[in-house]
Amino acid sequence: MADDAARIEEEQSLTLASLPPSLRQKQLAAAVVLVTLIGLGAAAGPLSSVRLEAADSIVPALIIPTAVIQSITAVLLFAQFSILGSVALFTLATGYLFTSLCLVAWMLALPGVFAPGGLLGANLQSGYWLATLWHAAFSLFVIAYAALKDADRSKRAPERLRSPAIAASVVAVVVTVCAATFLLIAGDGRLPPVVLDEDHGSPIWIYRAGTIAVLGVVALIALWRTCRSVLDLWLMVVMSVYASAGVLVVARSPGRYSIEWYASRGAELVAGSLILIVLVYEISALYGQLLSAVLAQRREREARLVTGDAVTATVAHEIKQPLTAMLINMSACLNWLERPSPDIDKAKTAVKQAAANGERVGAVVDSVRALFKRDVRNRSSLDIKSLIADTLALLRADLQKHGAAAEIAPLAAPLHVMGDRIQLRQVLLNLMTNAIEAMANTAGRRVLSVSAEIVEGSVVISVADTGPGIEGKDIEWVFKPLLTTKPEGMGMGLTITRSIIEAHGGRLWAKPNSPVGAVFQFTLPAETAARAAADDLARATHA
Ligand code: ADP
Repeated sequence: MADDAARIEEEQSLTLASLPPSLRQKQLAAAVVLVTLIGLGAAAGPLSSVRLEAADSIVPALIIPTAVIQSITAVLLFAQFSILGSVALFTLATGYLFTSLCLVAWMLALPGVFAPGGLLGANLQSGYWLATLWHAAFSLFVIAYAALKDADRSKRAPERLRSPAIAASVVAVVVTVCAATFLLIAGDGRLPPVVLDEDHGSPIWIYRAGTIAVLGVVALIALWRTCRSVLDLWLMVVMSVYASAGVLVVARSPGRYSIEWYASRGAELVAGSLILIVLVYEISALYGQLLSAVLAQRREREARLVTGDAVTATVAHEIKQPLTAMLINMSACLNWLERPSPDIDKAKTAVKQAAANGERVGAVVDSVRALFKRDVRNRSSLDIKSLIADTLALLRADLQKHGAAAEIAPLAAPLHVMGDRIQLRQVLLNLMTNAIEAMANTAGRRVLSVSAEIVEGSVVISVADTGPGIEGKDIEWVFKPLLTTKPEGMGMGLTITRSIIEAHGGRLWAKPNSPVGAVFQFTLPAETAARAAADDLARATHA
């Protein structure tokens, strides 16, 4: 049950119905509302005296695209419902389907469009009643969507019922729209007249327009109260357009082909398309994210496989030698004990050497485990300066062997970072060993320079050498697993180093040194002096 809730929560964080809108989306939505309001206001105000030519063919040109767009929106919303099982989305999808079919019925019933009196035996009044039906019904569907949204967060429609529910919805919508169209046309005489003629509303016109506007405003408020997602935001824009079309335009005059009429049809077309545009845009964006997530997952899996192989080989190589030494020590011990006069002292020495070799094996296993552990509990406040000095001390013999000098840039004050001491020492060891090995065959001066400084809240550590530098145009190749130029190399050092740095919240990169050589730099989030002092105090108290 808890697993289900967690899965639903995780899915919701990736779906349109739950993705929170960004500031840019909110600004864009406000701009769309503003422009539409200005357009509608202009049509109802300064431009209201403009008379446009009556062109019946314009009606299908405006209504058909709106109906098609709304039905495609319904299909996409039903598709989301079939994946997520959200009853709220199902309600909204049904609303869009209902509206698109109502629009078609309305267009057929309008006088003059396909027949002088309207198809299906309709007359002037039935067209207006059908328009009232879809405007009011759409607002009611949106109110239901807003009401169901919260209940939906933890509950889902069972998967087996989702396809039958969609089929039932389509049938119910078709039957309802046909029945409503028939009843509104057949009962035409019994319904109060909405208009007196093409240009003048009846006394109930204002109530009709008012009801549509009020329902639109109620839907807008319901969405406002529960607005959390991109879908909610754009639905609010749709409802703002519908409600303002109701208030500003429809309330003034019913006149078909008046400027208000064109403005209101245009606004409906824009509003009807908004959710489709948002759905298509967001689906494409999510598809892009999905693609990069799949590619990243594949790369990670491959890296893990090669890392696994390399670790096995490294562990085998590292422990083989002390294990062989242990066997030799133990057989020497046996020899000393099996002599006619056993030499206990020599046997003891052999056992001690065997124990020391056993400890070396243990240390190798521990260091490999430490490299791959992501346990943050092992992190503590570290002074980078002392870590650099410790690591250089370990490499003194290597530096001498290759005739290289080490230079540490003087640090003004201790630089503290939070990190795993063993892992970060391994990072410095890898980078410094690579630098020393790179300089092994160079003719000039061999200098390993290490520095650390604070840049924009991060500690930046540089390990530079005067070796041959990194060959090839793409310097990034050195971080790819299993790529090495050394006869004994594994090509895993830098891959592991980078993964340790990234696990610590930092970055690692390489660049050419001036005038020769290479520089490897990495960042680690700097720990504030106060935090470091608190940690030191806590450690002292525990000790
Ligand atoms: P390995 O040391 O086993 O080769 P790494 O991942 O540590 O694996 O390094 C990969 C390769 O990157 C090395 O083989 C070497 O060619 C190159 N490289 C690493 N560090 C340096 C450096 N400081 N200067 C020049 N080349 C380097």
